[in-house]
Amino acid sequence: MITNDNISEIRLAFPALNQQVNNRQLVYFDNAATTLKPKVVSEAIAGYYNTINSNVHRGVHHLSQQATYAFENARKSVQQFINAGNSNEIIFTKGTTDAINLVAHSFGKKFINEGDEIIISQMEHHANIVPWQTVCEEKGAKLKVIPVTEKGELILDEYENLFTGKTKIVSVTHISNVLGTINPIKKIIETAHKYNVPVMIDGAQGIVHEKIDVQDLDCDFYCFSGHKIYGPMGTGVLYGKEDWLEKLPPYQTGGEMIKNVTFEKTTFNELPFKFEAGTPNVGGAVGLEAALAFVSHTGLDEIFNHEKELLEYGTEKLSEIEGLKIYGTAANKSGVISFLLDGIHQYDAGTILDQLGIAVRTGNHCAQPLIKSLGIQGTVRASFALYNTSEEIDIFAKAILKVKEMLG
Ligand code: PLP
Repeated sequence: MITNDNISEIRLAFPALNQQVNNRQLVYFDNAATTLKPKVVSEAIAGYYNTINSNVHRGVHHLSQQATYAFENARKSVQQFINAGNSNEIIFTKGTTDAINLVAHSFGKKFINEGDEIIISQMEHHANIVPWQTVCEEKGAKLKVIPVTEKGELILDEYENLFTGKTKIVSVTHISNVLGTINPIKKIIETAHKYNVPVMIDGAQGIVHEKIDVQDLDCDFYCFSGHKIYGPMGTGVLYGKEDWLEKLPPYQTGGEMIKNVTFEKTTFNELPFKFEAGTPNVGGAVGLEAALAFVSHTGLDEIFNHEKELLEYGTEKLSEIEGLKIYGTAANKSGVISFLLDGIHQYDAGTILDQLGIAVRTGNHCAQPLIKSLGIQGTVRASFALYNTSEEIDIFAKAILKVKEMLG
């Protein structure tokens, strides 16, 4: 269990926690944007650059072989982490946005035609809206949107009503980065499969708040960013079922992804390399592997339980504050609290909180359609990670009272 007794040991692994901001001990509550990194991650990256630092799959020399070994081992670690059936179903990307663009463009190119329909939801991050919208514009297809209740839950009956013979793919977020809602993705996938429609899950937030088993979920595509699960920025993963990945055309072309090139014709490499054009981020993959090992070692259940406790405690403390409204009250929620204070602009609240050493996110959280549907311009968002404590929530609640005192 993560308890008051061992949390200080866990916190020691994260050097960035040990700093003052505006002369106060930092309280880092912007974890949904990016998590802080344990020392083992930067050590793994430095280790790669200080010793191996070679390109993969190309050289016969010792260091190049070591690089290939390290990169492919990282791929196997990701495979195990999300229980994919085969390591060739793991494509390294720059992150979630890159992975969704890959599927949208590649799937769109081959399978979307005029009049076809793509289903997303009202609570999507722009990363899971704009790529599909672009495909729709290019192909003359239509975007259909699953509505959300006032509490921030998807309306599943209406979801099922969106299917027609023209539906080609569903792409929804596992967890809302604004509301914290954990969507019933297994059910969403089952429904789509009834209509023979594949499903892509945006797991940017999901990967760090739930144990992911892509075979059990039976999702066709699942993607996430390394930096949201304590790993390096610029790393990410696209999982795709082998059948689908075989059928999709390459997204980017160039070195690494080819089998044979002549000026007349090029044949493409096998999976997963077909989707990994150019020199990959080997150091990043090694860093991501270290992050996943850290998370597994700490214990996924431990982390989820700890975050749940923080969510419950935080919700209780913030609900006591007069004039504070929480957005997102779904029954199944991750450690995210979005809120507004009566008569106080979210940016002003964020600025005062920063002066008090507290890092929160303010604004529309890259989800303008959702924010608009809530009839607001943005929120203040606090999001918790494995190293946060209930004492920090006490400091936060007091700081919000201070914001009210100064601006209310
Ligand atoms: N999807 C969701 C739900 C997110 O929360 C984010 C980032 O906040 C993204 C997609 C985009 O992730 P990235 O910027 O790492 O590609």
